[in-house]
Formats: sequence, structure tokens, C-alpha cells
Amino acid sequence: HRIISAAAAMDDEALEASIRPKRLAEYLGQQAVREQMAIYIEAAKRRGGALDHTLIFGPPGLGKTTLSHVIANELGVNVRSTSGPVLERAGDLAALLTNLEAHDVLFVDEIHRLSPVVEEVLYPAMEDFQIDIMIGEGPAARSIKLDLPPFTLIGATTRAGLLTGPLRDRFGIIQRLEFYSVDELAAIVRRAARIIGVPCDVDGAMEIARRSRGTPRIANRLLRRVRDYAEVRGDGRVDHATARAATDMLKVDAQGFDDLDRRLLGTIIENFDGGPVGVESLAAALSEDRGTLEDVVEPYLIQQGYLIRTARGRMASAKAWRHLGLTPPPRQAA
Ligand code: ADP
Repeated sequence: HRIISAAAAMDDEALEASIRPKRLAEYLGQQAVREQMAIYIEAAKRRGGALDHTLIFGPPGLGKTTLSHVIANELGVNVRSTSGPVLERAGDLAALLTNLEAHDVLFVDEIHRLSPVVEEVLYPAMEDFQIDIMIGEGPAARSIKLDLPPFTLIGATTRAGLLTGPLRDRFGIIQRLEFYSVDELAAIVRRAARIIGVPCDVDGAMEIARRSRGTPRIANRLLRRVRDYAEVRGDGRVDHATARAATDMLKVDAQGFDDLDRRLLGTIIENFDGGPVGVESLAAALSEDRGTLEDVVEPYLIQQGYLIRTARGRMASAKAWRHLGLTPPPRQAA
């Protein structure tokens, strides 16, 4: 049994890699970001220089990693990837930087989680393409400056507000990814279905798109689960009925909310009379990590108008009460 599930997981990973867009033209949605990046990339190529350092922010699964690879592909350069928590010591970053070739992209995921010492190394590297490294120990120790090739740092983070001011100021390009519309997600699902060879009609793709929380990663995952369902319970075709049955089975509702979304709204309503409630109390009541609520759960609920962020905490909107089959209380002064 375990062998089967491990193979299934690998299969998923391989599929995931094969559907990841490689060029800007395959990167669907995010029209403003795409148009701007196309210009900046073209300009950098014409100048024969490195693209300016770029910060990409937005909730998980919206395509930050994908976009950074697309940018490198369009520039025709290599990309080296790392992440904030992985770079523990200044030397870890120095080793990466000194191995870059001219105009390469260094992608740092979760860049808000860099340690302060590593961030210190990054400042002169970004600004002057130089790093200071310490040679030797004790009284004989001295610092030497090393020149780096001009490179592009692409940083990804779930929220721009988590970055320190000095780091944020060193990015020349800042892009914010938005949740995708249902039509955009349906196009993403149809493209992915074509690549992995799953017959999927327009209604099937639309139904998966509606239940994907505005997020391509979720859309692709649901597609794979609907495909499984269609192969076992149907004739292998993804259509409206199989998409609906499979997502119902996964307890993803018609609004695309999963169990945690509903629990969050339900807890605000049942335990805190609809709010306002502070995020810490909410996290404790749900036994969830505060960061998960703020980065993963809340942004979509807020964007869809189910959750309201006030100075005194989170409130469930009238829409949220109705979604859970409850009657909203008469409107109170906020
Ligand atoms: P993030 O880094 O923001 O967490 P990823 O870049 O890993 O998100 O994207 C998750 C998956 O969603 C990718 O593997 C890719 O297949 C798909 N994806 C993301 N953005 C797009 C897009 N604009 N068009 C098509 N597919 C996308």
C-alpha cells in the first residue's frame, strides 16, 4: 500500500513539473504583471545588462516560483534557487553568489525569512555587485571585497510587508500577484489537461476552476484528483459531473472553500459572535498557526468578501453567515 502511494506522489510531482509554464506566453492570467515584465526583460536584453532585482509577492500557489523561472528563460540565463530559511550563514549566500555567471537569476523563496547576518551580505551584493568576506580567524582575520558578476535577485514572499525596509528598497521591480479569475483558471486547467493527456471539456474545466480558490496550484491538484475519480468511476473524461462529484468528495464546496475556510468562518461566528476577534485568539481557537491563517487562509476569504479585517480584528461578513446557512445579525455599528 505504501509503495503505491509513494509512486502516486512521484507521479504527481513529475506531472507538476511537466505542466509548469516555461515562457511568458504560457504564463496565463496576471496580465499587468506579464505586460510589464515583457518590457523590462526586453529592455534588459537590449542593454545587454542584468534585469533589475525583482520582488514578487502574493499568497502561496499563485505562481511566484514559476514566474521567476519564466523570467530567467526569457532572459536566456541560468536560475539558481534557494530560500530564506535555508541560507543560515553568510557563507551559504556568498558561495551561491560567487558561483553565478553574468546576468544569472538568483531566486530566493521566502525571502522575508532571511537571517539578519545573511541580509547584511545581500545589501552590497544587490547594490554594487560586491561582497565582503572574512578570511582567517582571530587577530589575523581580515575582510576582503569580492566582485560579483552583475546578476538579478528575484525574491518571493507571501506578503511584502514582512520584508525589512532596507531590503524592500533594493528591489527595482515589485510585482504583486493577484488571485486568478475563474476564466483564467479554466484556461490553466485546460492547458494542464492537454499536457497530461486527460480529456477535459469546457464545463469540467470551469467547475474545477470555480473550486480552486483563485489559485493555479489548487486547480492543478484538483484536476489530478478529478482525473483519478473519472478513471475509476467514469470513462476517464473530466466533465461537469465528474468534476463536481470528485470535488464534493474532497469536501471542497461550490465556493471553493475547504474545511479550514469553513472552520475559520464558523469559529468567528459561533465562538466570537461574528467578531471582531484578534488573529491570535482565532488561531488558538482553531489550533492553527497564525502565519498559516494570515498567509494561506485569510487572503482569499478577504478578497471574496467573506472576511473583513478591521482595526479590532477579523469579522465574518453577512455573506459568510449565509454561506454557512445562518441568518446574519442586524448590522451593528463597526
Ligand atoms: P508559488 O511559488 O507562488 O507558491 P508556483 O509558482 O509554485 O507558486 O505555482 C504553482 C503551480 O501553479 C505551478 O507549478 C504551475 O504549474 C501553476 N501555475 C502558476 N502560475 C501559473 C500561470 N500563470 N499559468 C499557468 N500555470 C501556473
